[in-house]
Amino acid sequence: MNIDYPIIYEIAYNTYAINEFGMVSFFVLVGKERGLVIDCGCASFNAKELIGHLCPVPYDVVLTHHHGEHCNGMGFFDHVWIHPLEMDYLKNLDELFDRMYHNSAIWEGASRRGLRIPLPDGREWNFPSRERGAKDFYDFKNISFTEFDRRPDLLSLADGQVFLLDGSRSVAVIHLPGHTPGHCAFLDSGSRILFSGDGCCPNQSIRETSVTTAYRGFLRLNEFCPEFDRIFSSHTASGADTAGLSLPLSLLADCLTACQTVLDGTVQVKDTSYASHGFVRLRFDPNRLIDKDETPIHF
Ligand SMILES: [Zn+2]
Repeated sequence: MNIDYPIIYEIAYNTYAINEFGMVSFFVLVGKERGLVIDCGCASFNAKELIGHLCPVPYDVVLTHHHGEHCNGMGFFDHVWIHPLEMDYLKNLDELFDRMYHNSAIWEGASRRGLRIPLPDGREWNFPSRERGAKDFYDFKNISFTEFDRRPDLLSLADGQVFLLDGSRSVAVIHLPGHTPGHCAFLDSGSRILFSGDGCCPNQSIRETSVTTAYRGFLRLNEFCPEFDRIFSSHTASGADTAGLSLPLSLLADCLTACQTVLDGTVQVKDTSYASHGFVRLRFDPNRLIDKDETPIHF
């Protein structure tokens, strides 16, 4: 079955998850005075128009991190907030966006062979790909992507920053490095939901920081546990999923334990770059357990 339309879930009062064809979700939080949009999708449909229907008040757009399926829709907006450690990736991606949106050959058969697009730092962007199960959920051939003809102003997100939506609802920014260096999670006091992006999710990839950095990020996030009852990540399950469900609260503890098994030697790092615990499958760089300037963690 192919899905070629976004699915909208009301996951709490005035709180919406927009599931983009099973590929990724972004979120719209509506207060009495202001709204907050967490990520803005792939630009496979007009996100701004949809948000306008859901959110009748002025709103800010915040990005969890720089990966394309979370921020390609930013071309619809004048300003987006993102952590400074993510900004360079967006600035360097102009050429990549051009190629993505103007070369239909890239999209033809994308679900068949994956996207193998070189990044400025020499790595390769290969998402989504059939090997990861994407083909069963969506098919790019029937989706036309909106051209990315301008980049919005990038505003600096800071750890601890708070977006006030009204007198009784605010959303706090939590810097959660690991998946990427400047990844941020968002804690909504109104719905008591943690929006964890790709920073704490079942298919947890830690390829752009050390495992030690990620572990410390999870430890800090753990301090906020009393303030949320549910976790919504950007990808509900491994690969792709259209479900609009929250994730088990054990997710964070599972991420911590998975990291610990890598750092304390329980996992034979030479043999694998995966560690699983509970609900979490952790993928990490076996050559980057700790960075040069980091203090080791002793368990
Ligand atoms: Zn990501």
